[in-house]
Amino acid sequence: MALRQDVQAIKERVDIIALVSRYVTLAKSGSSHKGRCPFHKDDTPSFMVNGEKGLWHCFGCGEGGDAIGFLMKIEKLSFMEAAQRLAEETGVSLTSSREDGERDALRAVVAAAAEHFAANLTDARAGARARAYLESRGFDEAAWKRYGLGYALPGWDNVKRALGARFGAERLLQAGLVVEGEKGTYDRFRDRTMFPIFDLSGRPIAFGGRAFEGEPKYLNSPTTTLFDKSRYLYGLHWARDAMRAAGHAVLVEGYTDVLTLHQAGLTNVVGSMGTSLTQGQADLLGRLVREVVIAYDRDSAGGAGAVRGMQILRNSGLDVRVARYAEDEDPDSLVRKYGGGAMRDAVQDAVPFHQFYLDSLAARHNPRTVAGKEAILAEARDFYRGVRSLPLQQEIARGIADLLDLPPEGVARELGPRRGRSVAGGDGGPSSRASWGAEDDLLSLLLRGDVTWARVAGTVTVDDFAPEHRPLADALANAPESPRICDWVVERLREQGLEDLVERATYYALAPVKFADVDRALEDALEHAVRLPRLERKLAEVGAAIRAAAEAGQWEEWARLTRDQQAVADEVAQAAVRDARRGMHGRGQGEAQGEGEAKAG
Ligand SMILES: [Zn+2]
Repeated sequence: MALRQDVQAIKERVDIIALVSRYVTLAKSGSSHKGRCPFHKDDTPSFMVNGEKGLWHCFGCGEGGDAIGFLMKIEKLSFMEAAQRLAEETGVSLTSSREDGERDALRAVVAAAAEHFAANLTDARAGARARAYLESRGFDEAAWKRYGLGYALPGWDNVKRALGARFGAERLLQAGLVVEGEKGTYDRFRDRTMFPIFDLSGRPIAFGGRAFEGEPKYLNSPTTTLFDKSRYLYGLHWARDAMRAAGHAVLVEGYTDVLTLHQAGLTNVVGSMGTSLTQGQADLLGRLVREVVIAYDRDSAGGAGAVRGMQILRNSGLDVRVARYAEDEDPDSLVRKYGGGAMRDAVQDAVPFHQFYLDSLAARHNPRTVAGKEAILAEARDFYRGVRSLPLQQEIARGIADLLDLPPEGVARELGPRRGRSVAGGDGGPSSRASWGAEDDLLSLLLRGDVTWARVAGTVTVDDFAPEHRPLADALANAPESPRICDWVVERLREQGLEDLVERATYYALAPVKFADVDRALEDALEHAVRLPRLERKLAEVGAAIRAAAEAGQWEEWARLTRDQQAVADEVAQAAVRDARRGMHGRGQGEAQGEGEAKAG
């Protein structure tokens, strides 16, 4: 919480116009400043900065955020590094710098725990089972030492007793080694093979523990002052130099996958510690390599979490390919049966991730039936919209068109508009505006601070929004009333690792459309984004019930439902009349006024 307050203090003090001006020549444009985007080749210029709101957004490439986000992207810094730099400039004392002593103390605890676990592993009696497991996976004594492996004893208080007197219960808790229970603290890791997680200097900062049986199979340290799983990759300390030299990284799921491949001579391998990759992990990779080859197990690679992770990597500007293996093989079995060369071949032959996705669609649905075609289109829509590169989107549309034997233009239209570009400062033609709908109006009104959530709370719930907008709506619903509401929302979204929604939020806050009459625009947005969709859903439900009643021969029920249907249809008709009376509304599709744009031309 303290960090949140520090970050808020930094953002209140920093002059975003001055900050951005160090890198980009800005000119005043309406209530914002405008320049050529430093993140893509921009001739327009389409990069907007708003000093009052503390936000920036590029209407060319879709990137956006606040001052900290800008510094992170342009200087390729982590969040803490960027926050630290701005803290120094603005004279804010960041919690983390006060915590330096704290961190050293925690490192000492984790190092002592790693020694304790390592000693257990070589203990003749206690460590026998863990040693047998590690040997069965091909890790000999030299490997235990090299990778710092260990064993957590069964029982509830071994770590507590071994380290408690030296460091105190509170420190063990802060280091994530013990868990707070009803009757005091107890050991987090019990009867598990232990894999220390090292920082870039090779110091242990956390652990992953593997159970022999039972769930969870893998248990990680919680987030501590030293460790945040969403910003770490297992094995990076060993792999960094090889990754840089090769220009690419191989990404696997588990601890043993990393170690097996390192032992087989593939030293540019790191572990994502689960298949759902985060933006923080992607940023880390992006600072070291241009390409990532995903080498997950066959079953996990096609999962929704894995596909989303691949998109995060791709949207971070990395090339992404996916290694494929024969039926019932995975990286571990491949190396064991055929050696490191086989794995190297699999990495070499890895396919671009969109190709991998298209193949997995074709394997799951029959592209020759109408139902199969529909299922493929429906499933591919989110995937397509989550890709931020226009050429790549076109290639995906072409691939799906080929697969379904449909015209590519029709498929592209069906898959929907490109994210973050539908209202563009530089190239907002009528076709791109057509995709801006009532929900966009509503989010825009809220994120600009024209309308407070309290004002719409009686009419709207978070669930009224499209699924991809719900975390955004949720942040809005919980935000304090503030003129810099979007800045606050951006912070919450970044905490959750939802980078693409950060960009979405700045897009709504800074999009060059002007609401001539806020009250009417709001009324209109509520009607079209909330009330009418609800009526339409109701109409569909009643329609289905009517068909069911008819099939079952329940004619009384059928008559009652038909009257309901008429009542709902009347409501829809009345709404249409209201709409016509209002004529062109607050903003109106054709009336959108580009703030700076209209003045300029
Ligand atoms: Zn840009």
